[in-house]
Amino acid sequence: MAAACAVARAGWQVRMYERAPQFAEVGAGLQLGPNVTRVLHAWGLADALRAVAAFPDRLTVRSAVTGAELGALALGARSVARYGAPYATVHRADLHALLHRACLSAGEVNIHCDQAVLRYEDLGTAVRIHTGATPVIEGDALLGADGLLSGVRQQLLRDGPPQPVGDLAYRAMLRMQSLPAGWRGNQVTAWLGPRLHLVQYPVRGGRALNVVAIVRGAARPGDVDDSSAAAAELERAFHGACSPLRDLIAAVPQASLNAQPWRRWVLAARPPVHGATHMARGAVALLGDAAHPMRPYLAQGAGMAIEDAAELAQALAMDAVDVPTRLQRYALARWQRVARVQARSMRNGQIFHAEGVVRMGRDASIRLLGERVLDVPWLYGR
Ligand SMILES: Cc1cc2nc3c(=O)[nH]c(=O)nc-3n(C[C@H](O)[C@H](O)[C@H](O)COP(=O)(O)OP(=O)(O)OC[C@H]3O[C@@H](n4cnc5c(N)ncnc54)[C@H](O)[C@@H]3O)c2cc1C
Repeated sequence: MAAACAVARAGWQVRMYERAPQFAEVGAGLQLGPNVTRVLHAWGLADALRAVAAFPDRLTVRSAVTGAELGALALGARSVARYGAPYATVHRADLHALLHRACLSAGEVNIHCDQAVLRYEDLGTAVRIHTGATPVIEGDALLGADGLLSGVRQQLLRDGPPQPVGDLAYRAMLRMQSLPAGWRGNQVTAWLGPRLHLVQYPVRGGRALNVVAIVRGAARPGDVDDSSAAAAELERAFHGACSPLRDLIAAVPQASLNAQPWRRWVLAARPPVHGATHMARGAVALLGDAAHPMRPYLAQGAGMAIEDAAELAQALAMDAVDVPTRLQRYALARWQRVARVQARSMRNGQIFHAEGVVRMGRDASIRLLGERVLDVPWLYGR
């Protein structure tokens, strides 16, 4: 949706083919660093974002075992002063709706739901795509934004499926009013424990609390959404955690905004991108998770998709060069940055879930260095 919006703003006619019959409410949150909100602001969406997001004052890192604060990073006004844009947390459905509205007012974006892209043909001067429903569709470029299990990527790179990373993610969305006052603070809290961590933050202007718990665990394909098993699994995984954290997990069923309190994901990713030709070839480009699926431990997957969209729009707006050259320009501008974010997300996973002496070293360095290890200037400052 971000790519459609950006490319339409650059003057292109966009046809979007979405496999799902409709855009459903996706009950989970997203953190958007200042590198991402800066892009949304540049698209004129600052007011629309302000209307739906929360803007946490700080990120607090705590031990999941003792509950003690290990360190903190000021967000809020500091993020705006230092990076020129806020740190936001948003419900996915709200971000999606905001981008949808931006698409409709950006120019010519035609959205076709219930149409899966089955395959494409790159003819050199045009691309044809085949969907189940309509006659062959032809355009100047194909932007494959079809996510983790991208079929466009498989046709372009033929590099097999992404691999499970060995972690399970459990997500819940809670009604803030149903929670004790102590949990209603305007902050992102990350609780780090051996082989697990949990992140909580407000969305919807503070009316809802998003909770993501990530636990080392064998992927068991096929049991992704079994909510009752999820609650029992989390109780087991967090049995050694401090009582505030166990209380939060126990409060989920009665405070949940979703019929199903927990949803579970088997996390999968790919190694960092290792060259521009892995993001664009001929008249076909990949973006978002199709191009660079990553572990969620830097909270930047959707952010990178939005940055990709902005870069694509710039590249496609170039004059006097053909579409494949423009898409190569996009890939050259993006691949090293997204590879660095993928690599850092991987490393964060090891740090977050550390055990034994490594964990003690981690806690000591967060205590000692605080903002210096929690801030990410190379990421946020661009
Ligand atoms: C637990 C967890 C927490 C996360 N937290 C954050 C965070 O805080 N901040 C952040 O920035 N990111 C976060 N992410 C990452 C983020 O969710 C993804 O990076 C992001 O959703 C990728 O967007 P995308 O548009 O590339 O892919 P998707 O969101 O997967 O969208 C792909 C779309 O393509 C459609 N599609 C698929 N195949 C076809 C086809 N053949 N034809 C037509 N349509 C098709 C799908 O239906 C879907 O609508 C998190 C991820 C997880 C798992």
